[in-house]
Amino acid sequence: MCGIFGYVGKKVNIERVLIDGLKTLEYRGYDSAGIAFVTDKVEILKTTGKISALENMIDEDLLSNIGIAHTRWATHGNATTINAHPHRSGSVTIIHNGIIENYLELKEMLIKEGYSFVSETDTEIVAALLDYLKSKDIWSNLEVIKEMSSYIKGSYALGIIFDDELDTLYATRKDSPLIIGVGEEENLIASDVAAIINFTKNYFLLNNYDIVKITNNGVDIYNENLEPIRKNINTVYWNVEEAEKNGFPHFMLKEIYEEGKVLKDTINEYVESIDSFINKMPDFSKYDNIHIVACGSAMHAGLIGKHLIENYAGIKVDVEIASEYRYKKEFYNDKTLVILISQSGETADTIASLRKANEDGIDTLGIVNVVGSTIARESKNVLYIRAGVEIAVATTKAYLLQVAMLELINLKLMLERNLITGERLQELLQSLSTVPKLIDEVIAKDKNYIDIAKYIYEDKDLFYIGRGIDYAISLEGSLKLKEISYMHSEAYQAGELKHGTISLIEEGTPVIAIMTDPELSLKTISNIKEVVARGAKVILITTNELDGDYDFIDQKVVLPKVDNYLVPLLTVVPLQLIAYHVADLRKCDIDKPRNLAKSVTVE
Ligand code: GLU
Repeated sequence: MCGIFGYVGKKVNIERVLIDGLKTLEYRGYDSAGIAFVTDKVEILKTTGKISALENMIDEDLLSNIGIAHTRWATHGNATTINAHPHRSGSVTIIHNGIIENYLELKEMLIKEGYSFVSETDTEIVAALLDYLKSKDIWSNLEVIKEMSSYIKGSYALGIIFDDELDTLYATRKDSPLIIGVGEEENLIASDVAAIINFTKNYFLLNNYDIVKITNNGVDIYNENLEPIRKNINTVYWNVEEAEKNGFPHFMLKEIYEEGKVLKDTINEYVESIDSFINKMPDFSKYDNIHIVACGSAMHAGLIGKHLIENYAGIKVDVEIASEYRYKKEFYNDKTLVILISQSGETADTIASLRKANEDGIDTLGIVNVVGSTIARESKNVLYIRAGVEIAVATTKAYLLQVAMLELINLKLMLERNLITGERLQELLQSLSTVPKLIDEVIAKDKNYIDIAKYIYEDKDLFYIGRGIDYAISLEGSLKLKEISYMHSEAYQAGELKHGTISLIEEGTPVIAIMTDPELSLKTISNIKEVVARGAKVILITTNELDGDYDFIDQKVVLPKVDNYLVPLLTVVPLQLIAYHVADLRKCDIDKPRNLAKSVTVE
């Protein structure tokens, strides 16, 4: 969601540097883009649509050592050139990620002070507010920024250039992500590390209200009282090549193909031996109920966790959508563990839910991919998945690792409750170590998924059905398809269809049935027959060898044999690949689906 990038350093082809910076953030989702840089004054270029459109406007010979760049994901005002960032008012130029909640109130105040506005954005108000505070002529620019924060309600990451300090880039944040890259003779601001790795692997994070002042001489950091502070430098652990497609047509496909490897990396980190597994997992013994709070696919991973933990560890789990959880009455107690799942660790609603639980003194555990992200820092405990960089907006490998992490958490819960013997645990961990290879085997059957995609891509609607854990996986399959192919689909509990929605099944309606739980297979088969009887064409995804008479199935995927406990790690892979190939056949912009953003940093 929105990308911020800023550069201060040597004299470079500044427009090139800014555009390249934006390209690395393109995956976050956006609808317009713009840059501002300093020649003898601030120059601004912006446009709607792709970054290539902006690229066509640039003059490669222009040298400068300071500039800011932005990809916008509109919240206030349509995706127009005027609404695109940077915004300028008086002597102040800014880029902004976030939402200014009291912007109308501030706008009214500023209009009375003689300001007028050209855009519909909340961001332009901030530019005017900074200019207004400057015009009082009693503050330094640092004090102006500090004062600004006391006027604003909402969230922001800001890059700011003041006309009276054209060699300096200021940045600050509240509740929106912003990192500072520290290179040699060049320093950067960015929404995430993907944008800085071409320059440096070193970066630090800002706390809310921190302000940085970046010049050619280096980076000065101040806390909210404007006291100079120092920060620990973090190092990005993945390489530039990981952020490239390496011959794959799309990042999404590349990331699916990486699933075996990242699962192996995550297993190696947590499950070197039983002892290391026990030591690396938090102590869960005091909890008798769990809330899993997340959004989108991470919430679907949570549903798998619920099935596993309730069925195997016997602990009640509520899975909640973060945007609801943050505002609803909570029934937690001192034996509740709140688990927050977010790939980026910056999902605004999940952060708000975390803070609510923290404020109420409830224990929290973050499952995140991005080291040092807000959820990682603010949760009482954190477990990192090792997905590396995930660029495609629709998550695949991070989702898979979230499921894997919940499987590990459940094993620890079972162990603490003496529900599993050391021997069985050993057996399961051993079996888990074979899953990366099995995932590669599932992926290798790509032709199977292409055939299925060809069979359904022209249809209008599609149903996914499954029971129990297979239903939880159906939800993710359905979401993946909707996200990237724009084909309508619904996921239903197989037994529930006949209570209403079966009325939508007609001749030729495709139904993807998932059947991996041997205990429920016969029930699911009956449900499949119900839709077949109404004309549906059925694609079955199963662990079952299908020895009997299954001629009512039109297409099928048979998963390799693995301990039933680990099957969810395999089942989702064909669903991701089917969604991918449907989207490809429908000629969709797979890595950057319309209207979507990678890391949803606004409410
Ligand atoms: N609220 C601002 C706007 O609509 C910023 C959106 C963003 O974070 O991209 O322009």
